[in-house]
Amino acid sequence: MSNEPLEGGQAGAGGGHAALPSTAAGGRPRRDARGHEVQRRTILAATAGLMVAPWVAAGRAFAAPPKIYIDPGHGGTDAGAVGNGLQEKALTLAISLQLRDILRANWTVDIRMSRTSDITRSLDYRTSDANAWGADLLVSVHINAGGGTGFESYRYPTADAATVRLHQNLHPRILAAMRSVGSVTDRGLKTANFHMLRESNMPAVLTENLFIDTFADANLLKNSAFITATARGHAQGIAAYLGLGDPPPSYTTTVDNATAGRFTASANWGTSTFSSQRHGVDYRYANPVLASDPAWFKVNIPAAGNYRVEVWHASDPGYNASAPHIVVTASGNQTVNVDQRSGGGAWRSLGTFNLAAGDYNLVGVSRWTSAAGYVIADAVRVSRV
Ligand SMILES: [Zn+2]
Repeated sequence: MSNEPLEGGQAGAGGGHAALPSTAAGGRPRRDARGHEVQRRTILAATAGLMVAPWVAAGRAFAAPPKIYIDPGHGGTDAGAVGNGLQEKALTLAISLQLRDILRANWTVDIRMSRTSDITRSLDYRTSDANAWGADLLVSVHINAGGGTGFESYRYPTADAATVRLHQNLHPRILAAMRSVGSVTDRGLKTANFHMLRESNMPAVLTENLFIDTFADANLLKNSAFITATARGHAQGIAAYLGLGDPPPSYTTTVDNATAGRFTASANWGTSTFSSQRHGVDYRYANPVLASDPAWFKVNIPAAGNYRVEVWHASDPGYNASAPHIVVTASGNQTVNVDQRSGGGAWRSLGTFNLAAGDYNLVGVSRWTSAAGYVIADAVRVSRV
């Protein structure tokens, strides 16, 4: 906004919501470069933890997800800049909520926001909240004003290397995402003594996403595709800074006993349409026997990774109480026993497994059990997680 001299980089006096003079902080120390180094090591440790996990359970590594603080500028009684029928506080919230959702949909992250609705938050509340939570990074989202055009972003003038890296990861990705929708001037990476940048204890960047009082900019801000692109650019920059990698492609596939070329079983396995809980047209059944004669579901796994494996079976009090299901994982076969007397007609998770890429027999329903009752093989669903 033009009346916020340091926020928008515009000259002039004003109410400086983001521009508390340094003495206003009571003479307390400025951003602590060593504190940032500590923070940076924490992030690197968390990232490394994905490979060298301190805790490993059921073959799956758990590491603390990175803590991302999103600050939608203004809100409540503070509309921020206004122009062309738009309010800054509404635009910053729209971008920030989409940013949160995009991050959550694509990566394992911990997110906190200074607000998720149209409420008033002081600048002190925002930085105190982020500091108390122990955020790994902070991004403050704003819309510019003052008659200029384009996108610019800010870090604190004496920010440490981690902050510079965050800034350099964010800026070009946001710009590129904006330019996928419309023509946007690059006003560059800048520095300023803003409250949000100065009083936060973690790498922090403030973005000024076009000028609300410039007609062409406002037209882009009225375009929902532009808002989404802006949010996506922020998400991509944060993910790149944290080394989260590209989002895994979503993948799920279902193999039924009737799926051509994807199910094999010996002649000992009968075919039934007895239960209305069947998946597809029919299902297969066999008597238990202390010998190896599994029915196999073949699944094409597109890439190595973690997948949730589920099975569907019809159930009946006379079916098997402990039907062994063999899952061929990247580290060898794992067997999960399923009580098929109940719980049928729905997907049941066998668990999440690390699987190798390739088209292979993934799930085998074994007859080799001492439990009585028919063993049922009906369908398998595999989803990347
Ligand atoms: Zn603002």
